[in-house]
This record gives sequence, C-alpha cells and structure tokens, in this order.
Amino acid sequence: MELLNIKNLDMSGKKVFIRCDFNVPMDEFGNISDDRRIRSAISTINYCLDQDCAVVLASHLGRPKGEVVEKYSLVPVARRIQHLLKRDVVLSTDVVGEDAQAKVNALKSSEVLLLENLRFEAGETENDKELSERLASMADFYINDAFGVSHRAHSSVEGITHHFDENHKAAGFLLQKEIDFFGKLIKSPVRPFAAIVGGSKVSGKLEALINLLPRVDKILIGGGMAFTFLKQMGYDIGASLVEDDLLEDAQHIMDEAKKLGVKFYLPVDVVAAEKFAEDSVSKLTPAQEIPEGWMGLDIGPATVRLYREVLADVQTVLWNGPMGVYEMDKFARGSNKIAHFVADSYATTVVGGGDTADLVQRIGVDEEMSFISTGGGASLELLEGKILPGVAPLIVKEA
Ligand code: AMP
Repeated sequence: MELLNIKNLDMSGKKVFIRCDFNVPMDEFGNISDDRRIRSAISTINYCLDQDCAVVLASHLGRPKGEVVEKYSLVPVARRIQHLLKRDVVLSTDVVGEDAQAKVNALKSSEVLLLENLRFEAGETENDKELSERLASMADFYINDAFGVSHRAHSSVEGITHHFDENHKAAGFLLQKEIDFFGKLIKSPVRPFAAIVGGSKVSGKLEALINLLPRVDKILIGGGMAFTFLKQMGYDIGASLVEDDLLEDAQHIMDEAKKLGVKFYLPVDVVAAEKFAEDSVSKLTPAQEIPEGWMGLDIGPATVRLYREVLADVQTVLWNGPMGVYEMDKFARGSNKIAHFVADSYATTVVGGGDTADLVQRIGVDEEMSFISTGGGASLELLEGKILPGVAPLIVKEA
C-alpha cells in the first residue's frame, strides 16, 4: 500500500501539524515509564525541522473523556520531547482555545509547539467537524505519524485530513514503517511463518486469527484464549477463562487450519491457580485435566519446550498477546521464556504492540526484536485485513 510520502511535500519554512501518538504509560509518580512512542516520532519531527518548518505537535494521552484532567496533561511529554530534540518545546494550555491559537500564530520557523491533550476536547473522539476544521486551520500541512490511533476515526486523525489536498498531507516515517512492516508480513512473509497468538479472549482476536490462517504455516495459541479451544476439544478446563458462545468459532478455526494445512498448536500443560491472585496456591497440570475450581493462568514448561521446537525452523514470527497473566510474576514465566526464545532466534520477529510490547520491554529483550509495533489495537486491525480510517485518506490514488 503506497502512502502519500512526506518527502514529496514542499514544506520549506511552512507550518506543519503532526498528529503523533504520545500516549505513553506513566508510573504511579507520573513519570513516563516507556517513551518508545515519543522516540519513534522523532525522525518525522526532525525532518520537518530540517525543512525549517514551524512544527505544531498534537497527541492524546489516556482517556480524559472530553474534560481537562490534570493527570492527563502533556507537561511530562513536552519535557521528554524537549530532552530528545535538544530544543525548546512550548506547550499550550488548551487545544484549540485562545492560548493555543495565540501560540500557533506566534510560532516561527524551526520552533516547536505541543498542543495540550487532544482528548480534553470532547469533539476529538466524536470526529467533530468544527474541531477538525479548527485544528486544520493551524497549519499549511498535515502529517499523520500516530499509528497507534490510526484505527480511530477521530478529528485529528480522520476529520482533519479532509482539509488538506494531496500536496499538503502525508504519512510520517513511523506510520509508513508500520504499514510497510505489516503489509509485507501479510503479503510476502519469508516462510515458514508462525503466529503466536495469546491474550485474554478469543473474541478480541477472532477476526485476526481468521485472516491469518491462509497466510501462516503455524499458529501457536497461549493465554486465556487457549481455554475456549481446549474446552471445545473436550478437555477439563476447571474455572479457566472461557467464552462459551465462541466454542463453535473455535472449532471452525481448528477445522480451517486442518483444511489449509496450517499446524495449530495449543498448550499441553498449564500453571493452574485456585484464585486469580499473585499469592494464590498454584500447581502444574496437564491441559486435559485442570481440576475443578482451578484456573489456568500461564502455559507450563512442557508447552514452552514444545513451542520452542515448533519455532526452531521458522523464518518469520508474529507475536500478539501474552502467554499468561504476565502482570503477576508468578504467571509470567511462560511469556518470559517465549520472549527470550523469540528474541534469540534468527527469524524476523514482529511484536504486535500493546501488552506484548510491554512484556518484551519489561524483560529487556525489546532491542533484539526486528520490529515492535507502537499500536496494539491498530496492528490487530491491520491483521484483520482492515484499512484504517486514519490511513485511508493518505493512500496514493491510482492514476
Ligand atoms: P489482550 O488484551 O487480549 O491481548 O489480553 C492481554 C491480557 O490477557 C493480559 O492482561 C493478561 O493478564 C491476560 N491473560 C493472559 N493469559 C490469561 C489467562 N490464562 N487467564 C486470564 N487472563 C489472561
């Protein structure tokens, strides 16, 4: 998919609005705990500064739901950008109000302004036309570099694009890279290609699984979603997470895999606990016989060994969703072992954002992955075969 290229724009000395995704995680003290998303946007910002542009940056942070909520202010983000760019960044106290407008008007070439949290405006998530227009009026050019939010038709992502023609809008380098990576993964992966799919529920990843089936050689299932498949196979799953309304869909996926010759792997053992808590009693059990009242919260060591063997010959790995409740140390071991193995492999390794990105970063193997997406939800929608609303207006039209 060819996107409008930032390098084709004649932006020299002009004002440019860059929609970024600075929705970074914060710790309990309000410090940014992972600035990957900010670092990933620096190339596009620097490119615009090198063109002597006046740069207006905009992002959301958290879900303030249309109200000004201090803990979602972009103050710490502005400081981090300033640090990374090694130049001053001015933060407006509102999004499209008097302060923002005055600061945009005063913004000179090579200066950087960050607007306050876009979601302080209720219209942002409603794709409000007036808000889109007011945001668009701030600049001559529009760049979308916010992959993580491109699956949302919001004012600063979709609505705003209607105010710029093809010579005045484009994808930033990060957005382009994400789309290229997932495009290649889906269209022409180096084979064998394995998808490791985990996380809580089948429902969240059903479409992605169906779309992946004809494209992969192997699927390895982990996490809570495994139990719907295991139940459908007639196993005792105890009190594990299950979606009874999706048992038929689970069967359909297994049938399709068989029909297409895709090797489909489920956990053979699990770490089961009496309750969903770190201090719960836990034990290893075969996946066939989880005792009544016990819930599987991680894959067991036999599954880890099996999955290692399954992955040994693959050339491309896509990983989306943890193998267990990785937030609790006691149930993180399966995910951690798989993460180390994937990181050490010579395959092209793609991590699909969200929890999986968080988990590989926590254990420090993020640098060893070939690519970590900055968008969990957005990458999942790409894997479902959808065209994202924030990307559609930036696709180069065939002449
Ligand atoms: P998702 O957002 O669907 O990728 O799911 C991620 C969440 O799944 C994480 O918060 C995990 O704690 C959770 N999860 C993984 N394995 C299990 C499990 N066996 N039972 C319950 N939750 C799980």
